[in-house]
This record gives sequence, C-alpha cells and structure tokens, in this order.
Amino acid sequence: MILINGKKAAAELRAELKEEVAELKSKHNKVPGLTVILIGDLTPSQIYVRNKEKSANEVGLKSEVIKYPDSVEEKTVLEKIQELNSDETVSGILVQLPLPKHIDKQKVIEAIDPSKDVDGFHPMNVGNLSSGYESSIPCTPLGCYLLIKKIEPNLSGKKAVVVGRSNLNGKPMTQLLLKENCTVTITHSKTKDLKAECLEADIIVAAVGIPELVRGDWVKKDAIVIDVGINKTDNGIVGDVHFDEVSKNAKALTPVPGGVGPMTIACLLKNTIDCFKRSQI
Ligand code: NAD
Repeated sequence: MILINGKKAAAELRAELKEEVAELKSKHNKVPGLTVILIGDLTPSQIYVRNKEKSANEVGLKSEVIKYPDSVEEKTVLEKIQELNSDETVSGILVQLPLPKHIDKQKVIEAIDPSKDVDGFHPMNVGNLSSGYESSIPCTPLGCYLLIKKIEPNLSGKKAVVVGRSNLNGKPMTQLLLKENCTVTITHSKTKDLKAECLEADIIVAAVGIPELVRGDWVKKDAIVIDVGINKTDNGIVGDVHFDEVSKNAKALTPVPGGVGPMTIACLLKNTIDCFKRSQI
C-alpha cells in the first residue's frame, strides 16, 4: 500500500511555488500578495491564519492579516473588502470562516472580486469550475486532486465516489474528477447504500466529518482512498476512513494527520500566485 505523504507533497509544491515567486518578482518587479481577514478570537481560526501567513512568507509572497473583533459590523468588513478589491498590491483575499452570526457569510463571499477569490467560493468561480473554465478552485479539493494525480496521472474512465456534498469539499471535488473524465458518483447523508457505492470505486474521496465511516470491507482492492476528514475523538484526531482496515485493501491512502491537511495551505499559496498571474495578462 502506498501511504500518500501529504506533508512531503506540500513541501515539494511550496518549493516549486517559491521558485515561481522569485521568477515573477524578477519579471514584474513585484510579488503576489495575500490578504487574510480574521474576525473574532476562535482559536482554530487563529491557528489556521497563523499557518497561512507563515507559509505565505516562506514562499516569498507579500502577506497581510487584518484582524477585527467579534463585534465588528458587517458594513466595516464589506468596505474593507471593497478597498482590497481595488488595491493592486493584493492578488488574493481570504476571509477566514466561520464568521460571527451577525455577519452574512454569502454577502461577504460575494463582495470579494472573483479574480481575487483565492478560496474559490464566489458563485462566479463555482460556475466557472462546473463549466470547465479557468477559475480559482477551493483549496482542499485542489489538494486532494493533486495527490490523486501523483498516484494515477491518467484518471480517464475511472470510477470515482465522493462521499459528502459540501460546497467546500464534495461538490468541487466532483467537478475536478469529472474534468479528468472520471465517472463520478456523489454520495451524501441520504444515500441508500454507501458501502455498495464505495465498493464500485477506483477512487474514493471521503469528506464527511464522521470518524472512520469508510470501513475496510467498503473498499475495492487497488482503490485510491483520500481522507479529508478531521475528527477529534477520545483517541486523538482521526479521519473519515478507518485507516487500519482500509490500508489492508487500498492501493494508496492518505493518513490523518499528514495527508490532505498540509496540501490545503500549499494550494492557497498556489491560488494566490495563479490570481496574480492572471492579473498580469
Ligand atoms: P460538511 O458538514 O459541510 O458536509 C458533510 C457532508 O457529508 C454533507 O454533504 C453530508 O450530506 C455528508 N454526510 C453526512 N453524513 C453522511 C453519511 N452518513 N453518509 C454519507 N454522507 C454523509 O463537511 P465539510 O466541510 O465538507 O468537511 C468534511 C470533513 O472534512 C470534516 O471532518 C472537516 O473537518 C474536514 N475538513 C478537512 C479539511 C482539510 O484541510 N483536511 C478542510 C475542510 C474540511
């Protein structure tokens, strides 16, 4: 079984991106800039944002974090986004989710200029991805996609099952696999026989949020299994895939932690650089 090392893949991607930033700097005399808006003092959000900033600096991006207290008015955030939209030094804007209840998430997402939407959540980018046009792609599914392609460069005709239909993970993942000419089944909480669906799959991507949902006898021999889940349990962090059982059957499997997670931030940097490159054309 191939243990898919997301930490190593992410480090390789960051090294490539660092070179690319240096080339862009010598060509354009400026570097891509990432601005993150962080609202409130939720500890996980603070940790995510700190890691994003650290990684952005590591590859040579210009990075900035704008912090607001929990009580900030929605209007203030929307005005800041407008300001960043017209700031030429800002290539990518990310508003760290979740937001306080009094702020409308969709309004905030839609306020971001789609060409600077490094999370790929703006309806314009969602539509472009589903139409097969160039777009920003949500970072976690993009990371999953890059890991799958490392194992199997030609996905044409493969049967893929995506477990979970969230806008963040399942839906964009489905679009990426479709683009690669996979036959994709998207499953969710109302799917009648999830095990039977998974047993058909050459590729399984599990993004559910239920600890160890995907069991060893759900997985065909030689399947590639990507585990997006991050679930806190009494036994520590586990994924949506039962690692010990599935590793006996699968051809390749991502561990949790150390699989998909590290790729997510690396893909955010990639998206920022891609937004910059498109803005220079
Ligand atoms: P979500 O709660 O938005 O969506 C979960 C999906 O799972 C839903 O579409 C639901 O229909 C489906 N589902 C629920 N129960 C099911 C069942 N019994 N059978 C089949 N499908 C079922 O979750 P999300 O935001 O997509 O996150 C999923 C998991 O991925 C979570 O554990 C989250 O922490 C993790 N996550 C990891 C990363 C990363 O970087 N690795 C990033 C984002 C999310």
